[in-house]
Amino acid sequence: MPPDNKGLFVEGDRLMTICNACRYCEGYCAVFPAMERRTAFEPADLRYLANLCHNCAECYYACQYAPPHEFAINVPRNLAEIRVESYAHYAWPRAFGAAYRANGMLIFVLLTSAIAAALIGGMQIAPPARAADFYGIIPHEKMVGLFGAIAAFVAIALAIGVRRFWRESSGGPVGLAMLRSAAGDVLKLRYLGSGGAGCTYPDEHHSLARRRFHHLTFYGFALCFASTSVAAVYHSIFGWHAPYGYFSLPVVLGAAGGIGLLAGPAGLFWLKVRHDPRTGDPRQKGLDYAFISILFVTSLTGLLLLILRGSEWMPALLSVHLAAVAVMFLTLPYGKFVHGIYRSAALLRDAAERMQYKTN
Ligand code: SF4
Ligand code: SF4
Repeated sequence: MPPDNKGLFVEGDRLMTICNACRYCEGYCAVFPAMERRTAFEPADLRYLANLCHNCAECYYACQYAPPHEFAINVPRNLAEIRVESYAHYAWPRAFGAAYRANGMLIFVLLTSAIAAALIGGMQIAPPARAADFYGIIPHEKMVGLFGAIAAFVAIALAIGVRRFWRESSGGPVGLAMLRSAAGDVLKLRYLGSGGAGCTYPDEHHSLARRRFHHLTFYGFALCFASTSVAAVYHSIFGWHAPYGYFSLPVVLGAAGGIGLLAGPAGLFWLKVRHDPRTGDPRQKGLDYAFISILFVTSLTGLLLLILRGSEWMPALLSVHLAAVAVMFLTLPYGKFVHGIYRSAALLRDAAERMQYKTN
């Protein structure tokens, strides 16, 4: 463990030991009950707790020992710092995780520009025979080859990361009841609701805004993914080739998802700039803004492509859109998106622990 990270875990152990004696915040989230099931806080335990935390800061605003008290208890900030360390710790290859953690925004801009330039360089110079014919610009098999390779790499990287997390947090076999419980928590974003009032984000006032913008982002992403999958089925199984009509299923799903992916990240950005700096990790702002920017640029170029697909802007827009999609997927295992993956795994681990304690 690098020496600067060692301090994080020493502080995490100190905080959790005090909180475990106090227990005032045990009803706020899944972190405190999981903490109470432990008597020691090793780095593996702290990484697990950090990924259970969704940085609502409720425990900071409620804490009688928060700064300026001499105990200086600040759980959200310490867990936010450990959470980002955990992304690089579980990442495969680890060097990619560390590089992206240090330069997320720069990597996004450079990689998107490089891929867009390469795509433009490799495009057909002659205009396509049919208007709005994307495959007349970049052949279908080239697109499938590029995104197939990226999808395979991302799937392997995420699978290795989750396996590392699961093994380190001593996760056992996965049962159906555990899966059902964790899936409910993830899909409903239960903890961001905080019993209906919403969480204390971006400041000490309760609000449902963060949950709503997360929902828009999450379901926007899911609809875009569904649109691409339906288009792949149309193309490969039925032989129905793009461009599809404005009221076709791939376009309706893609447009709805694109709007969600514009509104969600824009809202998250708005909340992020107003976030109380005392309760977050200032060093991860670059990672947060990189992720929000990737999602925003991807959805914006996708919607523009839909509107301007019959114009002379189509080839340039297509290349920037495909580059943004490629970079979004390539950076999934190293950036903010991976919190959704490790948080889901942590909620599964939490469900397993709760069931184990109930039966003992
Ligand atoms: S955050 Fe503060 S109030 Fe909450 S359990 Fe810890 S010490 Fe107690
Ligand atoms: S910040 Fe919110 S989610 Fe994290 S430990 Fe505190 S109350 Fe729980």
